[in-house]
Amino acid sequence: MKISHIEHIGIAVPDLEKAIEYYESVLGLKCYKKEVVEDQKVTTAFIQVGDTKIELLEATSPDSTIAKFIEKNGGRGGMHHIAFAIEDGVGNALAEAEEKGVKLIDKAPRGGADGLQIAFLHPKSTEAVLTELCEDPRK
Ligand code: ZN
Repeated sequence: MKISHIEHIGIAVPDLEKAIEYYESVLGLKCYKKEVVEDQKVTTAFIQVGDTKIELLEATSPDSTIAKFIEKNGGRGGMHHIAFAIEDGVGNALAEAEEKGVKLIDKAPRGGADGLQIAFLHPKSTEAVLTELCEDPRK
């Protein structure tokens, strides 16, 4: 697979507005978009930092994986996943990872936030960091 850069870093937060306030008022960054991703039961907020983004994730339901992550983390948020931008197809990257014995969460690419095609690799196979592969089909 060919990775060009870190597309984003996903950070789980218990309170999206409070988190955005921190990134904007303390770090001087700008949230350019908020989006509800129904199938992941999250509201996301995106903050551009150079070529990469911070993806803030707030649960919209107690059975969201983000709600469970925060519960496990003692009610606090924290770094949730790292996402790499793939240049030669998320489907190809998944096939290659599987061939190399990596446990996949997604067997095929699916639609994610911000118009990306995404798929997750299981943290059991990725040195304990939930890893997202993504590609912008508009590019
Ligand atoms: Zn992500």
